Amino acid sequence: MKEWDDHLDLLILASTPLLWIRSGEEERVEVLLRQAAKRLPPRRLTSWDFIEGLQGAPNSEGLGARQPMAVLQWLQKLTTSSPTILLVKDFHRFCDDPGIARMLRNLSAHLRHQPHTVVLCSGPWTPPHDLDDALTILDLPLPQEIEIKTLLSNIANQSGSPLSGDVLEELTHACSGLSEVRVRQVAARALAQRGQMGREDLAEVLEEKRQAVARSEVLEYCVTQATPADIGGLDALKNWLDQRHQAFSDDARIFGLPLPRGVLLVGPQGTGKSLTAKAIAHSWSMPLLRLDIGRLFAGLVGASEARTRETIQRAEAMAPCVLWIDEIDKGFGGDGRSDGGTSQRVLANVLTWMAEKTSAVFVVATANGVEKLPAELLRKGRFDEIFLLDLPTIQERFSILKLHIQQRRPNSNLPLDAVVDRTEGFSGAELEQTVIEAMHLAFAERRELEETDLILAATQLIPLSRTAKEQLESLKQWASTGRARPASLKLI
Ligand code: ATP
Repeated sequence: MKEWDDHLDLLILASTPLLWIRSGEEERVEVLLRQAAKRLPPRRLTSWDFIEGLQGAPNSEGLGARQPMAVLQWLQKLTTSSPTILLVKDFHRFCDDPGIARMLRNLSAHLRHQPHTVVLCSGPWTPPHDLDDALTILDLPLPQEIEIKTLLSNIANQSGSPLSGDVLEELTHACSGLSEVRVRQVAARALAQRGQMGREDLAEVLEEKRQAVARSEVLEYCVTQATPADIGGLDALKNWLDQRHQAFSDDARIFGLPLPRGVLLVGPQGTGKSLTAKAIAHSWSMPLLRLDIGRLFAGLVGASEARTRETIQRAEAMAPCVLWIDEIDKGFGGDGRSDGGTSQRVLANVLTWMAEKTSAVFVVATANGVEKLPAELLRKGRFDEIFLLDLPTIQERFSILKLHIQQRRPNSNLPLDAVVDRTEGFSGAELEQTVIEAMHLAFAERRELEETDLILAATQLIPLSRTAKEQLESLKQWASTGRARPASLKLI
């Protein structure tokens, strides 16, 4: 946090009048500000809240209780002889009041020549537009591993049962991404239940993280049992994923490899993109978080960016995890004119995060087409790789049909050559549909599934590729220029 502290000191020394520390961790912010005040004498930290009024200012204790305007007036009159950092708690709630907003703007101009700083602290919030220029924003990252380690070890030592080195290490790692308050809660619960902390608390930490995701409107925690063995074909993609999985290990770090960033899967409907996202998470033993782009953009203009930041923080809290951005083309497909540029700004946030992220969040983005995707997203270096999931080849149709038959009729050993021939142009989902339809035919007559059922079912289904031929051709054309790798080992 040294870098963050230095940045804060610099802002205070530079007479920043209004500082918004973007964080929901008020207690932690107060501690950090107190430390800053100590580093920068003769500054002092005072705080204000609606109920208690002003605290930490001799002769004015309790001033401004239930009167937000009064505390601002107090600061305005304060002389330069007592340089003050004023933390105004919950103040974002009062900023919609025209009088308060005006006063903050006046104060902002006045304080530029005074050694005082007003600090607001809140998580996601869209300030009124007229305060945009007056507010300086400083993001407070979630506690870093070293802080969590110190916190856990202090709590354990105080409880009389210090943690052994490896348990402390494991708990610290598991808690990374939780806010300080949440870490304290996990510790308090452990102490209340068993009188000490230990390995048993790891499950609790995971649950805490799961709930953090459940509180998000945009992320969904997906439970899945899919494995790469459930995917027919797509061998090139599967081999590549195997390689990337190994790159998450400590050995890979020692070897000098960067953490994998993610993969973009492009292809027509039903070719196994979602299935692959699920299989990656399950086989890598990582939680799968599905991001609903529609919900990211729903609601108030401006709120989307705050929601994006919050979503990224939550995903990072779950790391190592897989963040599945489903139908990314639907979210970022617009030209930005229809929504006042919101989608462009959100996209910029996501791209910056992807380029700079150091956390073990593996992004799996899926899209049906590329024509709507912004060029910045497709540029090399955003994703580790872009894969085209084309309609299955002849060999792949064979393995997909076999897989779906085996899942439902494990003892069946039907010849599949004829059905494979009849299903050219079928997607994986359509092949699965063919198997299910054939089983209906057999079950209606209370007999075992036969080859003819499969052939009949295949004849009745009109694959999407027949109606969306042009779209598919242009996708293949695009991929053939080297911009995407085929997910299948051999394209026929
Ligand atoms: P969409 O673009 O419509 O979201 P998608 O590419 O994500 O489609 P999936 O949802 O993964 O397609 O596929 C739907 C179902 O089709 C899967 O749950 C699976 O049962 C079957 N399926 C698709 N591709 C394959 C495959 N390669 N192997 C086995 N099953 C497959």
